[in-house]
Amino acid sequence: MIENPIPWPNGAQCACAITFDIDADSLIHVSRPNDSYQRLYPTSMGRYGPTVAIPRILETYRRLGIKQSFFVPGWCLENYSSVMEKILLEGHEIGHHGWIHEDPTNTLGQVQREAFEKALETHKRICGVSPRGYRAPVYNVTPQVIDLLIENGFIYESSLMGDDIPYVLKTDGGQLFEIPVHWGCDDWPPFAHYEEIGYMMPVRAPSEGLKGFWEEFDAQYEAGGFFMLIVHPFLTGRLARWRIVEQWLEETIASKRVWFAPLDEIVGHVQRLMDEGVYNPRVDKLPYYSGPVEI
Ligand SMILES: [Zn+2]
Repeated sequence: MIENPIPWPNGAQCACAITFDIDADSLIHVSRPNDSYQRLYPTSMGRYGPTVAIPRILETYRRLGIKQSFFVPGWCLENYSSVMEKILLEGHEIGHHGWIHEDPTNTLGQVQREAFEKALETHKRICGVSPRGYRAPVYNVTPQVIDLLIENGFIYESSLMGDDIPYVLKTDGGQLFEIPVHWGCDDWPPFAHYEEIGYMMPVRAPSEGLKGFWEEFDAQYEAGGFFMLIVHPFLTGRLARWRIVEQWLEETIASKRVWFAPLDEIVGHVQRLMDEGVYNPRVDKLPYYSGPVEI
């Protein structure tokens, strides 16, 4: 049961989004800046995302007629700009995902603002528009980043885990939507094996690793909720895994009443419902704590 379900458009029972974070090889450069250029294997593993997986993913979306959201660090926008152009030409959304996948909790104060603004400027230059949404690298959004998002007119954030469905984050400076994530819908735990950046996960068989996602969907569908995957082209865009996702998409679109949309459209829908006075989302006031928590 979801206490306050959102009425979805056209009689859909559930809104769905498959969101890809195109981190490419930014991960190895930010974690091993002194010698990443010597590390060809992790660089190639990351480059697989924009060069091999994204054309495959875009082909599926084109064939099924769905538009989705991608989150891309500014450095990747710049280094893979022709891929970004294709994503935008096909009508998908690109959101802000840091400059070079720096962890916001490691880059506070002026450093955080500069990295955020550098990514924002790069986004405007490469994509020709301002991003409307943001997802923090490793989900580590900070109160300062929330303030930067509000200051720069973002309409949503997608890194927190405080609800099953979209809700509102409110600060003294303004508000924006939160499109909540969760590790159960993220492909890092079942598929990431990346010793150089500290992850030694047992890689699951494609069907086994993806199975948890479909169970998450079933529960959201039954409750009239919102189902979102947070996945990576260099993990879930690999041949055998994407083949399963593709089959799931085909079956789900054919047999269920679902609304696949980019996150900015989902937020736009909820905002319209609020403007019409027919829906009131739950509101979380931030920050949760104003200083170190006394224990
Ligand atoms: Zn990422």
